[in-house]
Order: sequence, then structure tokens, then C-alpha cells
Amino acid sequence: MSVIYENSQVFAQKLDSQDPIKSYRDQFIFPQHAGKPVRYFCGNSLGLQPVAAKQALLDELDQWAEFGVEGHFKGNKPWMYYHKFLTEPTAKLVGALPHEVVVMNTLTVNLHLLMVSFYRPDSKRYKIIMEAGAFPSDQYAIETQVKFHGFDPDQAIIEVAPREGEETLRTEDILKVIEKEKDSLALVMFSGVNYYTGQFFDLPAITRAGHQAGALVGFDLAHTAGNLPLQLHEWGPDFAVWCSYKYLNSGPGGPSGVFVHERHANNPALPRFAGWWGHHEDERFKMKKGFIPMTGAEGWQISNAQIFSFAAHLASLKIFEDVGMETLRNKSLLLTGFLEYILRDLFTEKLPFKLISPDDPESRGCQISVLTDSNGRQLFHYLTDNGVIADWREPNVIRFAPVPLYNSFDDIWQLGQFLHTFSENISSS
Ligand SMILES: *Cc1c(COP(=O)(O)O)cnc(C)c1O
Repeated sequence: MSVIYENSQVFAQKLDSQDPIKSYRDQFIFPQHAGKPVRYFCGNSLGLQPVAAKQALLDELDQWAEFGVEGHFKGNKPWMYYHKFLTEPTAKLVGALPHEVVVMNTLTVNLHLLMVSFYRPDSKRYKIIMEAGAFPSDQYAIETQVKFHGFDPDQAIIEVAPREGEETLRTEDILKVIEKEKDSLALVMFSGVNYYTGQFFDLPAITRAGHQAGALVGFDLAHTAGNLPLQLHEWGPDFAVWCSYKYLNSGPGGPSGVFVHERHANNPALPRFAGWWGHHEDERFKMKKGFIPMTGAEGWQISNAQIFSFAAHLASLKIFEDVGMETLRNKSLLLTGFLEYILRDLFTEKLPFKLISPDDPESRGCQISVLTDSNGRQLFHYLTDNGVIADWREPNVIRFAPVPLYNSFDDIWQLGQFLHTFSENISSS
């Protein structure tokens, strides 16, 4: 798909008029700035509220009001089985079999729980390979897991960093490190898309290399789920975790999704931290001793579902099920391609900013990260003051993530207009 982009509103509006999923914008609520919807480029941080979320929450309040404790078994979505209503759309979203996924807890909590099962170091194999500059929560989780098992993080954690003068990782370098560490490697734990650069890693290649090295493989898909099509079952990592409040629009603190490959579905011997919700369903209320895990990902559940946040998540997942990730990705390629074009068109001598996300559209999702200079912070505030919501990351990066469900090409053209005005003002002052 090669498009000749133009930096004009007529061109942006033409792309909008040809957009087959443009009507989905109306299913989201935009914060207002000076009486108009903001230009929202922060779907990678907190997705916008689906219109359907409010009614979904009200339905559960009604259920509670009408049935009290009996709401666990009555009504059209009994709470007892609530996590199951999320299974089908979640499996489709990440390319998994239904029994390979479950929604529970929050992301970092699940990362810990899955590492309890899949990071089991011994004196020979104890190392974890991860990307340098991973999201801090993952760094803390991994560091403390390593210490918990009595190992030294400086020796056990191997970070793969970009080459000198480069911003993103080369797949060959990742694979080389995996090969090099193969005798002492316990786990390869990568993000799917790096939160800072927006780089989408070659997950099938990393999985193959990790397994060939005799290690297990896990992915943090916080910036990947709802952003890029995934085929987790086929690609074969041992586990994956993600949150639902970024691209998945399920609201602040929304619940996390978990994938456990079916090769581990029926292994009650795997160590895990258990609770009653992962216990064999028919026996759950018999209150007997002796934990028997359910088969599949459900066997990692601990607590009963947080119904209100699950309800918002379910409302949002229905939109993804309705549109499909392939359709979203097609628009996303065009949309982010247009953003890249506009940024390159405007980042000239006056705004000598640099794009640090991969140039290759196949190696990124929605997000483009911009390395700014001393004018960066001022630009960020200028955008905010004009109703453009982007995201600032220390020390000097602005992240823009146009998302295909609710961003328009006109949003991007408008962003370009503000960049242009800002750069004109730099030169005149
Ligand atoms: C957003 C994000 C988190 C946040 O974790 P929570 O437990 O949901 O607060 C963790 N890891 C990555 C990679 C993220 O992008």
C-alpha cells in the first residue's frame, strides 16, 4: 500500500471520507477544549471512553440493586461467570484459543504471577533477557523476582540495547544475545511494543530463538494489544500479559489480560500462587482443602472478578470484535504514515526534531516518538494549550499515537498546523 501523502486539509479530508471505519469515532467521548473536541493522541496511555461504557456500568449497578448477592447467579450476566464473557473477544484480539486467555487483576500483578510459574531459575539457568529501557514497572518486577530467587540482578538480567548512535533494536542483535546466553538462560521477557520508541519487536523470531536456547518466553503486550494484530497461539510464547486501559479503552486501572499457551494448560504441577477463583469450578464453593487448578489460563485466577471494571472492558472489547484487528491495522498504517509524513514535512531547521520510532511501518504500531531539543517542552505546552493532547516522556520525548478507532486524518493535519505556527514563532522571537 503506497500512498502519496500531501500536507493539506483537502487531502486529509479526502482520506477521512474514504475511511471505511470513520463512524466508530462517534462511539467515543472526546474531552472538550474551548467548546471543541480535543485532538487526542494519547490512546497509547489512556484510551478514550467508549459511549457504551457508562450503560455497561449502570447495568451492573442495577444488577446489584435488583439482586444483591444473588447477582452472582441471576440476571443476564451473572457475576459468577463474568470473566467468561470476556474470553471470546479476548482470544480473538490476541490470536489465541479461548482456553489460553483470561482477564484478571492488573498488569504488573499478572507479570509477577506468571513469572512465579515461568521463571524458575536454578544454578545453571537463571538469566532473563529483556530490552534495555523497558517500562519501569517491568524492570522492577523482573529485578525483584530475580532477588526473590536469591540471584543478583546485575548478573541475572541481560539487557539488549540499541547499537551506538541507534534508537531501536535490531532483531539480529536480540537473537545473537539469546544464542550467546543459551546455556544459562531461563526466560526471555520482552515487550511487544516498546513504550518509549514505539518499536514493535519480531515476536515470532524472539519466541523461536528463546525456545531453541532452551528457555521460556514471555511478552508484555501493554502497548501491543489493540494496537497490532497478534497470533499468540501460533507464535507460541509461553505466556503474555497486557493491560486494557491503553489501546483497549477500558478506563483507568482497567483489568489485565493473560495468555498462557495451551502446552501449559494441563500441568497442575506448575508452581503458582493460587486462590479460589482458579480452583476447579465444580468444587469452588465446596470450600474443601487442596487446590486443583482449572485447565488453561483460568487456572491462574486468584480472586473473583472486579465486575465494574470488567463491565467497561467488555463494552470496549465488543468494539474490537466488531471491527477486527486487521481492519484497524489497515487504517492505522495509513494514519501513522500520514503522521510521519506531516512531522517530517515540518521538522526542518526551525524545528530540528528527530523521529526515534522505526521508519519501517511493519516495525511499529500507532505511535511515533519525537526526540525534541530545548524547545520541546515549550512545544508540548503550546500543543496542550491549543487542545492537542500528546504525551511527554522525560527527558525530552513527545509521543504521538493516532489510533484508528477514533482518530481522523484531519486530527493529524490540525496537529501539523500547530507545529507550523509554533515553528514560525520561534524564528520571529
Ligand atoms: C502501562 C504499562 C505498565 C503499567 O502497569 P500496571 O500494572 O497496569 O500499572 C506496565 N508495563 C508496561 C510495559 C506498560 O506499558
